[in-house]
Amino acid sequence: MTSFHFAQIGTIHSPYKEKFAIPRQPGLIEDGGGELHLLSPYNQPEAVRGLEKSSHIWVMFIFHQTMDGGWRPTVRPPRLGGNTRTGVFATRSTFRPNPLGMSLIELKGIRCQGQNVILELGSFDLVDGTPVVDIKPYLPFAESHPDARAGFAQQAPDSDMPVEFLPQAEQQLAEYFRSYPHLRRFITQVLGQDPRPAYRKGAESEKDYAVNLLEFNVRWRVIGGLNQVLSLDKN
Ligand code: SAM
Repeated sequence: MTSFHFAQIGTIHSPYKEKFAIPRQPGLIEDGGGELHLLSPYNQPEAVRGLEKSSHIWVMFIFHQTMDGGWRPTVRPPRLGGNTRTGVFATRSTFRPNPLGMSLIELKGIRCQGQNVILELGSFDLVDGTPVVDIKPYLPFAESHPDARAGFAQQAPDSDMPVEFLPQAEQQLAEYFRSYPHLRRFITQVLGQDPRPAYRKGAESEKDYAVNLLEFNVRWRVIGGLNQVLSLDKN
């Protein structure tokens, strides 16, 4: 079997500090963007010359946090409730023979500062520290097919589960407003997707959940189909 070696060309800086609660595809959460920092020797302004003319780019990356989990010929996509087995190549599962991911992401700008070449990215689905192995400009004339059939996920997932901030969380939102004016919207959209594991969905849950977003540990619980945010403590 032939194998190939790829070099990491950059690293993702993301508001999602862990895999839990990350949207399953880019573009689903308004404020969920970040940056791609190119690494030496790829951090040369010439290497991205002309890329600023593209509004969207393909970012190819390594599922580095799950790559040790190996792969199976079938997986159970959360989108299908976590019970239906589907061929791995018919899904976007992170557990693949080669742990390669690809996300189509808005390119908001490029900054070259000293040794740093930084791509400013719109809403994405990547955890902080994700290694990137390639970037390509998106070509809508060839790659946009709005009427295409999309197998296991024809439409964006529901993301309108209501979210309420309890008094302590409200107070913290007000405290952080200056530095994070969109924090309420960001947390509302992340929790609105109902990030709980598929097997817990629908269950009336007494359990509290927590996730690290930006510099906050966000704690919430689910009561009667409502997300109640308990607190957002700084890490
Ligand atoms: N858009 C890409 C694709 O289709 O190849 C990724 C789709 S994958 C379903 C998205 C999920 O991968 C996220 O919700 C998150 O849980 C997980 N993820 C993101 N970055 C990761 C990383 N570096 N390692 C492992 N899993 C990651």
